Amino acid sequence: MQKASIYCPKCKWEPPRAALWECLEVCGCLFDTFETGGTCPECHEKFEHTQCIMCGQFSPHREWYHYPKKAPTCKESETEDEEIYV
Ligand SMILES: [Zn+2]
Ligand SMILES: [Zn+2]
Repeated sequence: MQKASIYCPKCKWEPPRAALWECLEVCGCLFDTFETGGTCPECHEKFEHTQCIMCGQFSPHREWYHYPKKAPTCKESETEDEEIYV
């Protein structure tokens, strides 16, 4: 499994690993939404959208995860210079 880098898809703010997200209108507790995958650990409410604390915009939770794309394997063209022995 590749580790995803987590940052806001809108402003690229990287959230710290801390309980900064409030379970709004449900139980009101604070939790680390990226630790639980957008689910409140207290009432198990699932949040499909995560608000960025930096820019204040909501984005789908899964869009915060950015997986590194596999770099295309470019073969080094080996130029074999044939030496001609006389
Ligand atoms: Zn943002
Ligand atoms: Zn809750």
